[in-house]
Amino acid sequence: MISKADVVVIGSGGLGAATAYYLAKRGGLSVTLLDKHEIGSQTSPRAAGMVSCLRKGDLMIELIKDACRKIESFTEETGQPLDWVHSGSLKIARRPQDADVIATDLERGERMGLDVEQISPDAACRLNPFLKPSGVVAALRIGDDRYFDPAQVAVGFARGAEANGAVLLPKTDVTEVTVEEKVIGVQTTRGPIQAPVVVDAAGAWTRQVAEASDIRIPLVPTRQQLIVTEALDGARADLPMVRIMDAAVYIRPCQGGFLWGVYEEDPRFFDMKALGPAFDVKDMPLDIEVLRRAAEEVKAQLPVLQTAKTREFRGGIPTMTADGHHILGPTPAVKGFFFASGCNVAGLSISPTIGEALAAWIIDGQPPIDLSPMSPERFSDKNWSEQQLRREAAWQYRHFYGSV
Ligand SMILES: Cc1cc2nc3c(=O)[nH]c(=O)nc-3n(C[C@H](O)[C@H](O)[C@H](O)COP(=O)(O)OP(=O)(O)OC[C@H]3O[C@@H](n4cnc5c(N)ncnc54)[C@H](O)[C@@H]3O)c2cc1C
Repeated sequence: MISKADVVVIGSGGLGAATAYYLAKRGGLSVTLLDKHEIGSQTSPRAAGMVSCLRKGDLMIELIKDACRKIESFTEETGQPLDWVHSGSLKIARRPQDADVIATDLERGERMGLDVEQISPDAACRLNPFLKPSGVVAALRIGDDRYFDPAQVAVGFARGAEANGAVLLPKTDVTEVTVEEKVIGVQTTRGPIQAPVVVDAAGAWTRQVAEASDIRIPLVPTRQQLIVTEALDGARADLPMVRIMDAAVYIRPCQGGFLWGVYEEDPRFFDMKALGPAFDVKDMPLDIEVLRRAAEEVKAQLPVLQTAKTREFRGGIPTMTADGHHILGPTPAVKGFFFASGCNVAGLSISPTIGEALAAWIIDGQPPIDLSPMSPERFSDKNWSEQQLRREAAWQYRHFYGSV
């Protein structure tokens, strides 16, 4: 067990592992990446692994475009495997107000240089024959979208960090970030580590880690579930992914069948403290009824969800924020305390870019581009009650595809 580091990163999910990787790669700093569980074993490997390029704002589009480049060069960069498929995707509107969102999306996508095109419902169904045109009022093709194997990202970055000199400490629970006006280190279940800089990338436990040092951070751990089906005739890996906007249902090819999920109508939030210190995300209570209802809701467009047999049913606990933006950077509350969290169910795909930006922020004292919309500082004048925070987070969660 080491006793000192320049930077301690708490949490080896996509966000923490990518940060540790880029810190170690820059060289000159001793970096320790620790996790209370096995490396990269919690929410990150349970994600859908979809990369959605057409975001609600220009900054997110710029960041995700960079993330796409990093995903393509992941193996060359880290020396670790990453299977990805450039499939493109189809965004499907069933209501006039969602067709309006598609029109705005198209304008923004074209302005930002994305490969986007509004196509007829029939043309969309020709691109993915598992999609049926009944009830579809508008369709947007997004050529830049892709998907990857979610289980490979965090572990790949962590191994890449280790190859660049970082120390990995699995099964090491941080019980407190020690603060004496500024960060001086962490207390762990395997002893203390001195460090002037600590990154709280603890995923669903981000708040708990911060609150142990009296730092309040407004995010809500939220259940997200998906099903992987058995193999199906014709379910080619390069079929475009499909998102049904108002139902908030998504589907993408996976292992010869499909992987599909839904943003729940009434999201289930968790208080991680109440789940106890030994809680593992694999033990999260799942609810298949949520997916059955979603399959029923989109049966006219995606009848395959009614008949396909389930190979795997899994879920994880991403974190939602009140404004839908990530939480990245130093907190003004305590010098040396940084966050990489608030993923809003889209943190894995953007983790390469977020990790690199945060590493630069720590080393150079500022981020490579203006990331103030993600800064923890934006919450300085907010004093949401838990109820208000959950209400805002629930809205962001359910409206991820932009429909209102
Ligand atoms: C079903 C589902 C579908 C999703 N689909 C997508 C998608 O298509 N695209 C996308 O980009 N994202 C998707 N996501 C979201 C994505 O999974 C998350 O954004 C991302 O994995 C968050 O990574 P993280 O590093 O914040 O959290 P995690 O992977 O959970 O990592 C946090 C780590 O911190 C550790 N930790 C916590 N507390 C402590 C402590 N006190 N001491 C030490 N270690 C600690 C934990 O053990 C854990 O390993 C999906 C998620 C789910 C569940």
